Amino acid sequence: MKTVCLRIHDDASLAEAVDRAAKTLRDGGVVAFPTETVYGLGANALDAGAVARIFAAKGRPSNNPLIVHTNSVEGARRLCATWPEPAAKLAEEFWPGPLTMVLPKAECIPSIVTAGGPTVALRMPRHPVARALIEATQLPLAAPSANLSTRISAVRAEHVLRMLDGRIEMVLDGGQTPGGLESTVVDLTSDIPRLLRPGLLDSAALEAVLGRKLAKVVEEAGAPDAAFPSPGMLKKHYAPLAPVRLVDDDGFEMVRQFLAQGFRIGWMPLASAQTVVALPLGVESTAMPNEPVGYAARLYEVLHALEIHGVDQIVIQRPPMTDAWQAVHDRLQRAAARDEE
Ligand code: AMP
Ligand code: MG
Repeated sequence: MKTVCLRIHDDASLAEAVDRAAKTLRDGGVVAFPTETVYGLGANALDAGAVARIFAAKGRPSNNPLIVHTNSVEGARRLCATWPEPAAKLAEEFWPGPLTMVLPKAECIPSIVTAGGPTVALRMPRHPVARALIEATQLPLAAPSANLSTRISAVRAEHVLRMLDGRIEMVLDGGQTPGGLESTVVDLTSDIPRLLRPGLLDSAALEAVLGRKLAKVVEEAGAPDAAFPSPGMLKKHYAPLAPVRLVDDDGFEMVRQFLAQGFRIGWMPLASAQTVVALPLGVESTAMPNEPVGYAARLYEVLHALEIHGVDQIVIQRPPMTDAWQAVHDRLQRAAARDEE
């Protein structure tokens, strides 16, 4: 299959690209598009055959459910069986935006979308391209991140093509995605709201609106062949090809040791900690932002760049252990956990 990449740079190219993509989606095709978090890989959520093609393109296990994207609260309400008060409150406050809510599913959602489970994950994205695409199709779009299963998410169209060229019909290139990290996922199917996956929306903001603490989900929850409560709970997830070492100091000592062994190194100290001025040959270094929003926006971009460079080892300085860094820590932990699989 030839993957068509359409560059969006103004209103006219947006209208034309969205028009073509909407036709492809209505015909059961698969299209990657930018959202405010990362690139999504979309198909008609009401068409089981189209959704099956997302799983095939990504090599995603069928027990890993997908997020369904919609353009309005009314649209979302048609996709779930109940709309509890906390959902109404959170939608009012945070939609459109990087918040995914898990609710009891409506009949119209094919079971392949929910990995056979009784719940559906819903989100209303804010990115203008995502919104225009949903508007043009007049369909809910099932869309996981546009990367091969277990690999790092794509924050540019080039990253999508690195992994999915020839496997999907189309990519809408709307430039780099601003948030850089996946959405925050909350489960609202029981009386106690649970945080299933920390993400771009700070969970403290959710708790403030809900007026209560979110329960956290234990990482290994779920039997191996049961549907995962959340795909983000796959331990090996978001992992770059090279092994990742998370360290508490700036990491330069470890970089030197790896260099002595002849490795090519990717090094990601925090900007505040970087003391070394002249870097030895064989080290690709990026000083990472000192605050979590900026860090999240750069993380996958830097990891893709290091993959493209073909480094053998990645050394990352662990950011401060505070709540504001929760989502970043989660992704770094998973990236580093790959060797334990
Ligand atoms: P991604 O592949 O990065 O888009 O991840 C999809 C996300 O969808 C996961 O992290 C889950 O949190 C979420 N998800 C989708 N469907 C469900 C569901 N029925 N129950 C819980 N989480 C879900
Ligand atoms: Mg993903």
